Amino acid sequence: MALIVQKYGGTSVGDLERITGVAKRVAGYRQQGHDVVVVVSAMSGETNRLTAMGEEISKGSPNPREMDVLTSSGEQVTISLLSMALQGLGIAARSMLGDQVAIRTDSAHGKARIQHIEVDTLRDEIKRGCVPVVAGFQGVDAQGNLTTLGRGGSDTSAVAVASALQADECEICTDVDGVYTADPRVVKDAKRLSRVTFEEMLELASLGSKVLHPRSVEFAGRYRIPLRVLSTFEPGQGTLITIENKNMEQPIVSGIAHAQDEAKITISGVPDIPGIASKILGPVGQANVEVDMIVQNTGADGLTDFTFTVKRQDFDRTMSLLKPVAREISARELSGDNEIAKVSMVGVGMRSHAGVATRMFDCLASENINIQMISTSEIKISVVVAEKYMELAVRALHSEFELEK
Ligand code: ADP
Ligand code: ASP
Ligand code: MG
Repeated sequence: MALIVQKYGGTSVGDLERITGVAKRVAGYRQQGHDVVVVVSAMSGETNRLTAMGEEISKGSPNPREMDVLTSSGEQVTISLLSMALQGLGIAARSMLGDQVAIRTDSAHGKARIQHIEVDTLRDEIKRGCVPVVAGFQGVDAQGNLTTLGRGGSDTSAVAVASALQADECEICTDVDGVYTADPRVVKDAKRLSRVTFEEMLELASLGSKVLHPRSVEFAGRYRIPLRVLSTFEPGQGTLITIENKNMEQPIVSGIAHAQDEAKITISGVPDIPGIASKILGPVGQANVEVDMIVQNTGADGLTDFTFTVKRQDFDRTMSLLKPVAREISARELSGDNEIAKVSMVGVGMRSHAGVATRMFDCLASENINIQMISTSEIKISVVVAEKYMELAVRALHSEFELEK
């Protein structure tokens, strides 16, 4: 008998029939004698729908606190429906909102971080044989305001609950039967990985593989929570996220991630003197815009070019923010491109293999894909390419590194 935290994503609870299916799946675990805590997302499409309404009524600049009250409501619907479905099968169940648990977060609306989870109520419910059905994605700050954790954040709610309860395993139940070598929607012959290390999964998730919310992987790695991604709809072992086993032979490349929601900004002809990078990026950071890749050219004639990437949703805001900055530092030109994408290869085996980058660049060149920016770390190589070549790049690299085998 184990304590298992299961998270069901939007597609898994997409309609009443599916919610009933989830209830049956949970009932199966109860019948085997396991204690179960369920964390659910909103029905698929619901968070998008709520977000769009908030954007529309506030003409594109919604109040972050109200936006969290709005978007967190999707999960309130699914916890109640799933609890009713479970009760209908004779399983004791009780829906719990983030503040009823309580899942305590900081006050960063829209991207709050979980600070602490109270376990007493959850433990009491489990002890009396009940399945707590917890709303993912949401929490409550010290002032009692509702907060949300960022898109895809229910994964993090689940891992955090699992860690607080010291659960035996956290299962992320979704519409794919595990983590694949690339997004199976893009690469038809992508292969399911039976295991992947926390380190690699963290890179893949941060670089765009939306199968897991990056912070959920960070949490699971830090608190050593056995984490598994598996299908809601089909039986199977899924993918186990594990600590690295140095004795095992590691493939050079474990997976390829892509991120479409990127944009690139260049300030060219800026004086090549100390303090320029901070003059440019200071205001960007102050406006709470996350900067990803940064490239500065070697100077010539006392001038240099400075390029960086941001999330596409922050592109317009960052461009207008930089107009006065560009003038102030006498830059030649400020330009931007919001039709770019990032493609990354990840693998712990890269540490011990030279020549991976060259092989990657050769492969892209043979497809006539121009590389606009490059960034590397010990276990990953990322390139920025035109958005229209993104899928081609992912497929070409997948086949070059024979990941289908
Ligand atoms: P949920 O609603 O259950 O949280 P998501 O849509 O957030 O599900 O995540 C699952 C999706 O992630 C899959 O349908 C798949 O298209 C996508 N995905 C991207 N990269 C990968 C990958 N490497 N392995 C598996 N799925 C991936
Ligand atoms: N419902 C939220 C979203 O769509 C959280 C989640 O699904 O994990 O982003
Ligand atoms: Mg998700």
